[in-house]
Formats: sequence, structure tokens, C-alpha cells
Amino acid sequence: MTKITIAIDGYSSTGKSTVAKQLADYLGYVYVDSGAMYRAVTLFAMQNNIISKDHFDIVKLKESLPSIKLKFHKEVGWQKAHIFLNGKDVESKIRTLEVSEFVSPIATIYEVRLKLVAQQQLMGLEKGVVMDGRDIGTVVFPNAELKIFMNASAKERAQRRYKELLDRGDAVAFEDVLKNIEDRDYMDTTREDSPLVKAADAIEIDNSEMNLDDQFHTVLQLAKDRIAGRI
Ligand code: C5P
Repeated sequence: MTKITIAIDGYSSTGKSTVAKQLADYLGYVYVDSGAMYRAVTLFAMQNNIISKDHFDIVKLKESLPSIKLKFHKEVGWQKAHIFLNGKDVESKIRTLEVSEFVSPIATIYEVRLKLVAQQQLMGLEKGVVMDGRDIGTVVFPNAELKIFMNASAKERAQRRYKELLDRGDAVAFEDVLKNIEDRDYMDTTREDSPLVKAADAIEIDNSEMNLDDQFHTVLQLAKDRIAGRI
């Protein structure tokens, strides 16, 4: 069967990665969580005194980029591939609220995007990939055969994220999670380089009122139609 490229973009915590992963599993495609790459660079920056609450050393970040090696790797029994930063599995460490607070400034840096976009494009060379992020349909794979743009209200997204963090055992306040979502929406949509914007040919899905099953079947139907050339 023809393999296509599927780009899933949208606001933070819209459930992009959940549906992207389900779709990739169903179709036997590779799933790539591009946000994990920006988060891993952010973790590196936090660990190397490049970014903190009161400073951001952009020069040092740019100089450090060649020494940041990112890789996805999946072991038998894992639900998804984990991201490795310079050989270390950081999948769990990149999901904290602290990383979420620094990731959007890091993602504004042109050289960071250049490096990560090049790596993402390599991963998609052979098609059969579902990638989620902010600029996948606009910058990484502008020719993707299927582009989805996910949306939901900020409050609904914050509630989902808050629950995820609590389930992980992170003691966070709902207000802080909501503020982080709103801050990232603002930074991601207003940055100069590759802002989050719906591609002209993307299909928008608002899942505020959808359960995971409805969402999956909506997207799966679109993918099947696209693969069969019906849309
Ligand atoms: O997808 P996730 O919420 O993990 O992404 C974290 C952050 O990484 C986003 O808020 C955004 O600032 C950045 N990002 C990006 N481009 C992508 C994926 C993520 O700028 N393709």
C-alpha cells in the first residue's frame, strides 16, 4: 500500500501525540514526537547553565548545539520510542512543568530549529511517518499528504495536562499549568521563525468535546481516505 506522510500540528496539550501514536501503530508507520526533541534541547540547556528563571545565554546555546545528540530508541515492551540525549534516556525528565516553562523560548532560536528540522526531515525521507508538533505541515513536511490541525479550549487542555502531571506524581498547581499553556500558546504563535499556524491545506479538528475514541476514528478515516485517494 502507498505510504504517506502525516503531519499533526496544533496547540499544546491538544492530544496530538496520543492520536499520532495511535495512528502510527494502526498503520504500521513510524511515530515521531518532535516536541520531545525541543524538550531534550531544553533539558540540556537547563543542565548546562544556559537557561534559568533569570538568564538565557543564547550564545552558549548556539555554541553547544554540535554537542547535543538526539536519538529515538524503542525497546521491546515500551509503548513508544524514548528520546535519548547524548546517550541517556531522558523521556521522563523532559515531561516536567519546569521543562515546559523553558521550552518555548528555546524553540524560538533559529539555529535550534535548523538543526532539529533537518533531523526531522531525515526521519521522514521514506514516508510512512506520523509526526506531531507545531510546524510539521508548514515547514518540516510542507508536502505532507495529510495535515491535521488540532485545537481545544485552553481550559480543557490545562485540565488534561494537570491530570497527566498529577498521575506522574508531580505536585503542581492547576493555575500554573493553565498559565504555562497560555504562555506557550502565545510564544509559539507569535515567534518570528516558524510560528504555530494552521497550514492552508490542513484539516482542523477541535476535540474539546471529543473522547479519545471519536478523535482516533475521525483522524483514521481521514488517513484511510487520503491513502486510498478518496480525498
Ligand atoms: O509538543 P510539546 O508540547 O511537547 O512541545 C513542547 C514545545 O516545543 C512547544 O510548546 C513548542 O514551543 C516547541 N515545539 C516547536 N516545534 C515543534 C514541536 C514543539 O516549536 N515542531
